[in-house]
Amino acid sequence: MHEFSIAVSMVDIALEYAAKSNAEIVNEIELEIGELSGVVMDAMTMAMSAATKGTLLENARVKIVEVPGKARCRACGHTFRIRNIFDPCPQCGGFNPEIISGKELRVKSLNIE
Ligand SMILES: [Zn+2]
Repeated sequence: MHEFSIAVSMVDIALEYAAKSNAEIVNEIELEIGELSGVVMDAMTMAMSAATKGTLLENARVKIVEVPGKARCRACGHTFRIRNIFDPCPQCGGFNPEIISGKELRVKSLNIE
């Protein structure tokens, strides 16, 4: 499962940060997941609960922020909402737009004590 390996690396990053900060409790972990990252949100939520089991993050609330896809057309410069990386520009029909956002896969913040 694709989401599980992503969740494991997110948890690794978070645990490393928590250890550096001498955290005893992690209340919340906030993840930023881009709409174009190919991650299925429900699967990600399940993967996170599996990946945090037995770690400092086990009881942390997992908050997932979905980042909408945005692209800029290389041909006409039009900026538009994109839901699939293969979508053409709605203004000129040009393909291969530059992706501005929506590919995020990162730990945004941790709430620790
Ligand atoms: Zn265009």
